[in-house]
Amino acid sequence: MKNSNTHYDIVVVGGGLVGGSFAIMLHQLAADAGLRILIVDARPFNASSDKTVTQPDFDARSTALSWGSRNIYEKFGLWSDLSPHAAAIRQIHVSDRGHPGVTRLQADEMDVEALGYVLENQYLSQAIQSALVVSNNLEICAPAQVVEIQHQPDGMRLNLDSHNGAQQIDCSLLVLADGGRSGLMESLGITTQKHHYNQHAIIANVAFERPHQGQAFERFTDNGPLAMLPLPDSQAPDGVTLHRAALVWTVPDTDKARTLSLDDATFLAALQDRFGYRLGRLTRVGQRNAYPLSLMEASEQIRPGLVLLGNAAHTLHPVAGQGLNLALRDCEALASLLARQWQINSSEANIRGKEIGSYRFLESYLNKQAQDQQRTVMFSDLTTRLFSNQQPALTLGRNLGLLSMDLLPPARHWFARQAMGLR
Ligand SMILES: Cc1cc2nc3c(=O)[nH]c(=O)nc-3n(C[C@H](O)[C@H](O)[C@H](O)COP(=O)(O)OP(=O)(O)OC[C@H]3O[C@@H](n4cnc5c(N)ncnc54)[C@H](O)[C@@H]3O)c2cc1C
Repeated sequence: MKNSNTHYDIVVVGGGLVGGSFAIMLHQLAADAGLRILIVDARPFNASSDKTVTQPDFDARSTALSWGSRNIYEKFGLWSDLSPHAAAIRQIHVSDRGHPGVTRLQADEMDVEALGYVLENQYLSQAIQSALVVSNNLEICAPAQVVEIQHQPDGMRLNLDSHNGAQQIDCSLLVLADGGRSGLMESLGITTQKHHYNQHAIIANVAFERPHQGQAFERFTDNGPLAMLPLPDSQAPDGVTLHRAALVWTVPDTDKARTLSLDDATFLAALQDRFGYRLGRLTRVGQRNAYPLSLMEASEQIRPGLVLLGNAAHTLHPVAGQGLNLALRDCEALASLLARQWQINSSEANIRGKEIGSYRFLESYLNKQAQDQQRTVMFSDLTTRLFSNQQPALTLGRNLGLLSMDLLPPARHWFARQAMGLR
């Protein structure tokens, strides 16, 4: 922390992709009006404004950003740093292995240059951290662990552990973007509703013989859906260009250990068998990691003086690539409402503070986002359930669905708009 003040208007706990993005948005919209913001993260921040990132290795993890998220990052000045590292998704090819149903979603049909973009997470984190570090009036406290939160009559009190020892901080509004696994929600008595899909996502980067040319693939196979997302090419140590793609392969829990333990050649052969030869021969697979798949929703997203964002509020199945995209729309909505509320209120800081922490105000945010949240959760959940199921009636139904989507532009546009994160 740059000074010894202990009261802030807003404290954001968690400087990950969501908390960091939210703090940038809020700072840009309201710091000039005197809103005092602190962001706290348990991990150290890169304390420089240097935007150079070392060339990602073959295995770098990545995220698919929707067209809507790209527009949000452009609005808040981050897109120019991100775009040189982004692989554009110009077409999404959706198919069902062994069945005739196929649909193609095209960027030019939607009048956009790309349906979305795939970015290595390290570029996203670096761009967010650099923007935070250079923001005047935005204070950063990292590394520091929030160990306790207490409700106060006029806001929240936080106890932190940092290299400076224990600290106590008060705020009018606490934005909890801690990813939901740190136990803070639990300590506040906020429960979660969890649905386990009994599946794991196997994540790995792969290389193909041929360039992807901006195509992303969503393919439904006998043991679960797989997504293949375009990545920027990389160079092998011998100078050969590798045409990379990011694989998200959903397998039943019972297949997880076996799939992870396959040697590379056997894994590639199994994947090739399911994916086919649309991009030629698979030539390489990197490190494989498995993530258990579940849908988690917090039973409460707001309380007086408290709002949950990102994975803390809702954690979605990664195959539909909607988790961060939904969270960014929540962030933008909350930041805009907060900035407006801050500016229209009395110039007395304590009255403004009471307003932004009030349940009534926070409810207006939740009402604004409820429909988008429900629709996105439903879209992710339904695609997962429908396409993970091999019952003959469902297989027939989804193939008819894919065929009719290919024939009916309105159905294809609806699906594309969901995938693009457009309301
Ligand atoms: C395999 C996989 C693929 C995915 N692909 C996509 C995709 O293509 N598109 C998409 O939109 N979404 C995708 N997602 C979802 C997306 O990654 C998440 O929605 C997003 O990362 C959530 O970010 P977050 O900031 O909420 O949480 P986190 O990234 O978990 O960040 C939480 C932050 O809080 C800090 N913290 C935690 N506890 C404390 C504490 N007590 N005190 C201080 N700091 C604390 C942590 O250090 C961390 O920095 C994917 C997810 C997975 C697992």
